[in-house]
Amino acid sequence: MPRTPNNYLDYNATTPCADEVVAAMLPFFTGEFGNPGSPHAMGRWAAAAVETARDTLADLAGCLSEDLVFTSGATESNNLALLGVARRTDERTKIVISSVEHKSVLGPADWLEEQGFQVIRLPVKPDGVVDLAAADQMIDEETLLVSVQHANNETGVIQPVAEIARTAHRRGALMHSDCAQTLGKIPVDVVELEVDYASFSAHKMYGPKGIGALFISAGTPKSLIGPICYGGGQEMGLRPGTLNVPAIVGFGAACQLASEELPEVMMRIGGLRDWVEERVLDEISASRINGSDADRLPGCTSISVPGIPASAVIARMSNVCISDGSACTFGALTASHVLLAMGLSAGLADSTLRIGLGRSTSVADLEALLAPLVRTVTDVRTASEKIGKRDSGNTAQSMDSSHE
Ligand code: PMP
Repeated sequence: MPRTPNNYLDYNATTPCADEVVAAMLPFFTGEFGNPGSPHAMGRWAAAAVETARDTLADLAGCLSEDLVFTSGATESNNLALLGVARRTDERTKIVISSVEHKSVLGPADWLEEQGFQVIRLPVKPDGVVDLAAADQMIDEETLLVSVQHANNETGVIQPVAEIARTAHRRGALMHSDCAQTLGKIPVDVVELEVDYASFSAHKMYGPKGIGALFISAGTPKSLIGPICYGGGQEMGLRPGTLNVPAIVGFGAACQLASEELPEVMMRIGGLRDWVEERVLDEISASRINGSDADRLPGCTSISVPGIPASAVIARMSNVCISDGSACTFGALTASHVLLAMGLSAGLADSTLRIGLGRSTSVADLEALLAPLVRTVTDVRTASEKIGKRDSGNTAQSMDSSHE
């Protein structure tokens, strides 16, 4: 029996594979196990399945099939975009990213900085949206590549990617966007986003883990990006290695599902998200929603509860899976760089919960979250008040101030 938690509400970290996705993948583990690079019938069948999946992804992302390179996920796509472009440059040496990027953009940018590139990190406003005036100032004729995510994994805040892309292109720079959190959740059209490169991941949208893609615009010369590993020349030589056929087929099935149900799911979970936020604001005094003034993903909410360490809340709620920030930074001792960039103190960032709603989330799931959440927050507050009284206020004060 799978160890299914009663209440999974962390859909920005990952999603389960949809039944349709698993069903589509299964034959490719056994009977249809051919290598798509093989010339015989088995190889040709596998190659046809890969191309069908590529076509479905292309339809969902608004691009041509030949503009897509399959990778192992958005981490690899982001690395390929940044490092693959940087290694082909002969003149421009400035990389501009936002300060709220995922670690898989921050990491390669840090490495490029060590190699002598100048890396500029664009500030965001308190609502989490990139400061466009700063972008206009900082993206210049020295800029090689700008990378700004489509939506943030901790707050769900959506960035004005097309506007930043226009600034980048006016200055002769290339534009990349990490769309790991948006494909399959809100409409993504890479032409409308005006990007040269975009990263996608299947496991955020009911596909399998370990598969993703990089979009490379047909209008952007292929020579401007090079591979970051070498081998058999698959995927236009940009991503060598035997293709993960079952996962690619699963990614295609997930794209098909998203294209059928996206508007309905978006509307439904957007409504549920607004409802749960209202309830939290009503029932937990001093709570606040991060990024609430910005456009956000419908299924994501980031809630700060001053004075209540998120880790203490999560530890006490054994049947509810919510997050205290990005799952990818779990275990890191530092406060969320995203929340700090939005102007939260380290204490308040540590007192922040992320709730992620998915296609099967119901009112009952959210009711089942709210009761223990309100109770736990009250318990933690009462406990700290008692400690405060007992210790003449000293302990409570230090606890509060460390989380404000
Ligand atoms: N970018 C963002 C915005 C993400 O949320 C994630 C997943 N946490 C990634 C990149 C990495 O994606 P993957 O797990 O497919 O490598």
